[in-house]
Amino acid sequence: MTAVCRCAPHVRTRFGSGGDLIPHEHRVVRPKTPGELHSAFAMGARVIGGGAGIMSAAMPAEPPALGMDLGALGLHTVASDSGRVGALVRLAELQRTRLDGHNAVAAALAATATPAVRRVITVGGVLGARMHRSDLVPALAVHGARAHVVTAASPEPRWLPVLGLWDLTDPFAVLHVDLGAPGHSAFRRLAGHQTVAPALVTAAGLRRADGSLVVCLGAATPRPVLLDADQLPPAGSFLEDHRASAQYRREMAAVLVAELAEELSVVEAA
Ligand SMILES: Cc1cc2nc3c(=O)[nH]c(=O)nc-3n(C[C@H](O)[C@H](O)[C@H](O)COP(=O)(O)OP(=O)(O)OC[C@H]3O[C@@H](n4cnc5c(N)ncnc54)[C@H](O)[C@@H]3O)c2cc1C
Repeated sequence: MTAVCRCAPHVRTRFGSGGDLIPHEHRVVRPKTPGELHSAFAMGARVIGGGAGIMSAAMPAEPPALGMDLGALGLHTVASDSGRVGALVRLAELQRTRLDGHNAVAAALAATATPAVRRVITVGGVLGARMHRSDLVPALAVHGARAHVVTAASPEPRWLPVLGLWDLTDPFAVLHVDLGAPGHSAFRRLAGHQTVAPALVTAAGLRRADGSLVVCLGAATPRPVLLDADQLPPAGSFLEDHRASAQYRREMAAVLVAELAEELSVVEAA
């Protein structure tokens, strides 16, 4: 495991909240095996994905004093046959692959940020950040997607449902994502005036074989929630802030779920 700086010049500094440039120490470890990755956690290293979130003053994450580059672990590819996606695959690259039977995932990718930012953001970075506003996570969740992770507690990689990442208390690294089973799915996003504004409510839905509709809400609650379409939680479970009241978010969630139910009532042509 070598300690090298692989940061591009534009990520060696970041803007602080006052517009000042904060030096980035650019100490990075590059594990070659899950075992080395586990040891890196003991050194206090934290994973760096595309760097879009870490380098943005708009995001809560701070650049770690010791970064961890997963680039030597072979996580750059998408295996279309198995639906397994490496953590370092950029969102733009995933968009270019065949996502048949994963319409919600394709729509959530298209709704994330801008084409330029999607060329930077990695799949692992989206999951690793555990943002309640992530567009991709609800879409993955309705398909039963799983994340392959190594945690600081154990060197053995294991598979977890994507929403199970929210329950981890130890530092972790996502190595792969399994996109889950294909199905009849769709995605909706409600934001402010501009479509690229942070979402107020997102909803992904998938019509199960028995005709019922499973939904995952994002952005509206402190963490994404997976539920049956007819079991929306009460307003008290929704976020309340300067951008929208909990009641408004709850009502908009009901609207998005109704739209999903209507769209997914039409059976797709084989
Ligand atoms: C300008 C901008 C616009 C955005 N717009 C949207 C949007 O419209 N919709 C949306 O959903 N999101 C949006 N985001 C959020 C973005 O998806 C997240 O910040 C995401 O975490 C960035 O991924 P990254 O690969 O660049 O991660 P990084 O910035 O490298 O890391 C972010 C966090 O994830 C952790 N991490 C990274 N990789 C892994 C991994 N493999 N395993 C475990 N943890 C890891 C890091 O330690 C860090 O805590 C936006 C971000 C920016 C900067």
